[in-house]
Amino acid sequence: MGEFDLIQRFFKEHSRPSAEAVPVGIGDDCAVINPTAGMQWLVSSDMLVEGRHFLSTVAPERLGHKALAVNLSDLAACGARPRAFTLALSLPRADEQFLAGFSRGLFALAQAHGIELVGGDTTAGPLNICITVMGEAPRGQALLRSGAKIGDDVYVSGTTLGDARLALEAFRGTVRLPGEDFDLARQAMECPQPRVALGQALRGLAHSAIDVSDGLVGDLGHILKASGVGARLEVDALPRSAVLRRQPLAMQRECGLAGGDDYELVFTAPAAAAAQLAAAAAASGTAITRIGCIEAEPGLRLFDAQGRALDLGLSSFDHFKQA
Ligand code: ADP
Ligand code: MG
Repeated sequence: MGEFDLIQRFFKEHSRPSAEAVPVGIGDDCAVINPTAGMQWLVSSDMLVEGRHFLSTVAPERLGHKALAVNLSDLAACGARPRAFTLALSLPRADEQFLAGFSRGLFALAQAHGIELVGGDTTAGPLNICITVMGEAPRGQALLRSGAKIGDDVYVSGTTLGDARLALEAFRGTVRLPGEDFDLARQAMECPQPRVALGQALRGLAHSAIDVSDGLVGDLGHILKASGVGARLEVDALPRSAVLRRQPLAMQRECGLAGGDDYELVFTAPAAAAAQLAAAAAASGTAITRIGCIEAEPGLRLFDAQGRALDLGLSSFDHFKQA
């Protein structure tokens, strides 16, 4: 199978954008995409490297899902509607079984979110997947990291914060999980659900947002820095799955606060928006939990359920610090 057969069979064949939205898709030197009137483009890239972002044990179908999911999560964090994506793929050989699974996982998620594959690049090399997503939001309405205001509530989406990290620790052998717990945690790690509907529902309600890819503390820290504010977090208010709750409290806190790979949204919103937020969350089928508030004093302060200050000395996931 040559490069062009591969592209045709596993990617072009599954990409059927409407001629109105995408007059030129895969097959020419560039894709041509029609913007929607009154909208701005939001563009983001995320790369997945074997051994760094995924383990060789992951099923190809889940890898296809995750490669797009982490990119959709960035669009969600900005409140954008997904439109199109490109796929730059480096792989050691044209492994048909791998490509079929990868393509299945990729296009299942693409179809679920109405985003179209419009181009890419394919080359032989170490397994490496880079996706660029393009989405749209009404002019001036994109959610940014820089909008948090003193007095805002801090929320996080979902119910499995920390599970992906727990799975990683199980793979590393530092924790032992019973089979069913391992499967659930592994699913959180390998099959994150990007909060695309919630992100769009937050436009006009949230003052700031980010998606949690490197751990809650670090990613909320980006909001605080960009907004020139601080925050207090009620650590034991973080949503936790039944799986995580079966771990010691210290492990629950560490995974929830500094886990990474969660792909939940952290956002801030004024207290006056609380009822509208609850309705938006319900309409998008995503749980949200208030976990703290924004304060004037810079930095992040952690408290337990009794209101006692915690010093957990946590930091977020940093690829270069780790190396
Ligand atoms: P060029 O040499 O002009 O860059 P290529 O030969 O690399 O074009 O690719 C041919 C066509 O296939 C282009 O439209 C490109 O966008 C598309 N393409 C290549 N690889 C992929 C891929 N992995 N997924 C989707 N489209 C791809
Ligand atoms: Mg090329």
